[in-house]
Order: sequence, then C-alpha cells, then structure tokens
Amino acid sequence: MNDTLVQGAYIVAGLLFILALSGLSKHETARMGNRYGIVGMAIALIVTVVAAVAGTSLDGEPASEGSGLPGLALIVPAVAVAAVIGIALARRVEMTGMPELIAMLHSFVGLAAVLVGWNSSYENNVAYPTVHDVEVFVGVLIGAVTLTGSIIAYLKLSAKIKSARLVLPAHNELNLAIVAALFVMTVIYCLTSRDAEFARQLELGGMTLMALFLGWHLVMSIGGGDMPVVVSMLNSYSGWAAAAAGFLLSNDLLIITGALVGSSGAYLSYIMCMAMNRSFLSVIAGGFGVEAGSTAVEGDYGEHREITVDDAARLLADASSVVITPGYGMATAQAQHAVAELTKNLRAKGVDVRFGIHPVAGRLPGHMNVLLAEAKVPYDIVQEMDEINDDFANTDVVLVIGANDTVNPAAIDQPGSPIAGMPVLQVWEAKDVIAFKRSMATGYAGVQNPLFFKANTQMLFGDAKRRVEDILKAL
Ligand code: NDP
Repeated sequence: MNDTLVQGAYIVAGLLFILALSGLSKHETARMGNRYGIVGMAIALIVTVVAAVAGTSLDGEPASEGSGLPGLALIVPAVAVAAVIGIALARRVEMTGMPELIAMLHSFVGLAAVLVGWNSSYENNVAYPTVHDVEVFVGVLIGAVTLTGSIIAYLKLSAKIKSARLVLPAHNELNLAIVAALFVMTVIYCLTSRDAEFARQLELGGMTLMALFLGWHLVMSIGGGDMPVVVSMLNSYSGWAAAAAGFLLSNDLLIITGALVGSSGAYLSYIMCMAMNRSFLSVIAGGFGVEAGSTAVEGDYGEHREITVDDAARLLADASSVVITPGYGMATAQAQHAVAELTKNLRAKGVDVRFGIHPVAGRLPGHMNVLLAEAKVPYDIVQEMDEINDDFANTDVVLVIGANDTVNPAAIDQPGSPIAGMPVLQVWEAKDVIAFKRSMATGYAGVQNPLFFKANTQMLFGDAKRRVEDILKAL
C-alpha cells in the first residue's frame, strides 16, 4: 500500500477523532460524536493492517521483517481473539461496571506501552540513539505507571480492595525520591554504551520496577472521594502511554490519538478537581501535600424518620416544585426509566420537576447524564450542581435517588471528614427531602451522612426502582 495513501487515511482518522471529541462534549451531539469515533477507529485499524500486510513502512524506512503475509498471520488471529473477548466483555458489562472496565482497558494500554518500549530497547540501528533511549525510558515509565495505577483503580472501583487512602510513612518524600531516581536513571541509561547490553537491560528493568511501584503508590494514596479524578487522570496517562508507543513505532496516528486522549483526559481531571475543590497537582501526585489527618467523623446524629409510599406520593402530588438528585444507587437499581416516568407524570400534573446533577455522581464522569438521556429525560430540565444549588431553598420536595456522598452536608460542616471541601448538592435547604436507599449504609467514601437524620428528611427504604414504581402506582 502506498505510504502517501496510508498517511492520508491517518489524517482522515485523526480528524474524525477530533470531531468525535467535539461531538461528545454535548448531549445533543454525543451519538454523532460516537459514530465519528467508530468510523475513525475502523479506518485506522483497516489501514494499519492492510499497510502491514502490503509491507508499507510507516516511517519512510525499508519495510521491517514482520510485514507482509507473515505479519498478517500474526495480526489477524490476535485482532480476532481480542475482538471476541472485547465484544463479550462489553455486552456483559452493566452500566455500573463501566468504570471498572475502563480502568482495566487502561491497564492494557499501559502494558502495551511497556512491551513496545522494551521491544524498541533492543533496536540498535537508530538515527539518534540518545533521543531513542529517552523515548524508550519515557514510554516504559508512563506505561508502567498506567499499568499498576489502573489495576489498583480497577480493584478499588469494583470494591475488591478498600477505597480509603493508604498513607505510607513519608509518602510525599517517597514519591519525590522515586521521581528524582527515575530522572538520574534516564541519564545513566542514555550514557551507557550500547555494547553493554546486559547493563542497559538491568537499568531498564530497575526503572520498570520502580515505575510499577510508583503507579501502585500514586493510586493507593488517593482516597475514596477523589477516585473520579484518578479515573480521568489514568485515562490521560493511557493516552500519553499510547503517544509514547507511537513515537517508538513511528506511527503518526498513534501519536495524534494518544495526544488527544492524553490532553482531553488531563483537562477533564482539571475540571473535576475544580468541581470538587481539590488541588490538581496534589491529586495527580498521589495526594501530595495532603497529610494523613482526614478520617471519618462519626457522630451521634439521633434517629432517622421513615416515610411510606402513600405519604411520599401525597407529598409529591401537593408540591409545586420538585428536584431529583440521582446518584450511584439509581444506576445500580436501573431506576432511570421509572424516574423518567415519574417525572412525566408529575409534569403532566403541573409540577415543576428538575434534576440536579453532581459532577461526580455515580461511578464515572457524566454517569447520571448518560442514564437520564437513555431514559429520554428532556435535557433542558437536567441542571448542573452550580446551576441548581441556590434554588433548593425555594423547592418543595427533593427526591434523593440513591445518592449519598454527593448530598452529604459533612463536606461543608466537618473539616475532618475525608470529603471535606467537596462541593455538594445542598438538598437539605428544601422544605422536604425524601431519601431513597436500601439501608443506612454509607456511600462510596465510607462516611455517615447527617442529611438522613435532619428534621426535614424522611427515608424511603428499598430498591430505588421498586420504590419509584410504587409511588407511580400510588399517584
Ligand atoms: P454513593 O456511592 O455515595 O452512594 C450511593 C448510595 O446508593 C449508597 O449509599 C447506597 O445505599 C444506595 N444504593 C445502592 N444501591 C441501591 C439500590 N438498588 N436502590 C436504592 N439505593 C441504592 O453515590 P453518589 O452518586 O452520591 O456519590 C458518588 C461517589 O462515588 C462519590 O464519593 C464519588 O467521589 C465516587 N466516585 C465517583 C466517580 C465518578 O467519576 N463519578 C468515580 C469513582 C468514584 P444502600 O446501600 O443503603 O442502598
């Protein structure tokens, strides 16, 4: 295949990825954005495989050994097996399991970057050896940090390990020492003669182990409430890992795609830090500068009150304004369709119904927006936390559907709380609050929620979907 044709196809795919990102930034254009992404990825895959089979070199050098038909014999089975596993996993995964799946997929990108880096370290015939050595080191470094960081994120998100922060003694100094050591090792690696192959492998091996430890430590040091930022940060790292692999493979499209993912992930992490009132640098440096003082403050908040389905229906029928604040429990209960039905019913009765969405509600950025869009809730009544927070004081009834940390007043009144400083939906300002959950259990951050004990809050226990359906019947 002609090299110009390959580069042309890569430019088209790159443009489609940019259009995909721009489409995904708004509800109305998200589907279109997704389609652009799919077409771009299909072009990228087909062209790369066909070019490999045709023996086209992507860097202007003579085609390498693995190209041609023998290359096809390796690539096609690998792609087929991976595609079967990918399709099976994606079909099986529940919406609530998406963050874990994404974290797992990021770890594969990290692993791929480590393998590409190690493979490239054996190349001797390179035009600029020092530049190549730095590329190898940086690629393996980002890849290894992404690999272990993503595995820990997967384990935390799927509750296979505790989401609380692990704070090793002198953890800040430890991170700084590792970064300094990695820098020194890069210099030593570049200065080591290419003939001293064993010494170079030892250096690269030592660095890989250190970077694997750094990824583990960075994510273990982040507490439950800050995990959303870690997920988007790892997304960003996986992009940079792919870009580094692109440099080593001389593949322009991989560099473009990696840079797009890396920079958009970094920007998303930044926006999420702003929304959660967290320092961006502190979070990406594994809680750097945050001391191990924040612990759950357990207080005696008194007794909670319960409400029956009939009383809840009566309260809603008499209300003129209702705000619904959904959280992770709405996703686990798959209550979005019942909630959309309730919204329709109340609006038909003339009740002003709106949704208040916290930026980190659920388990992935935009989780609630996706569920509400799936249930066809009109976009114009779905509002962000900042748009709606001042309106709670004039709201008759707030329905807290499976939300907990995102409506926890401890974030404001308890400076020692692990979620202290995180802005929350101030639902307690409303006249009445009905909290839908199954028990008095804590939310993701593991802290008790004083909202559930306030005089104007009543608990409606049970599965959120069933309870909303019961209310619909009672209405
Ligand atoms: P939380 O995770 O704080 O709480 C969810 C609540 O839903 C639980 O208290 C649970 O109580 C209830 N629940 C679970 N299943 C059901 C059900 N079937 N029916 C009714 N209730 C149910 O949710 P929030 O959305 O308020 O907060 C999100 C948390 O997740 C934040 O701490 C955020 O930092 C974190 N996070 C967010 C990410 C993101 O990108 N959005 C990524 C990673 C973490 P009970 O068991 O009693 O029913």
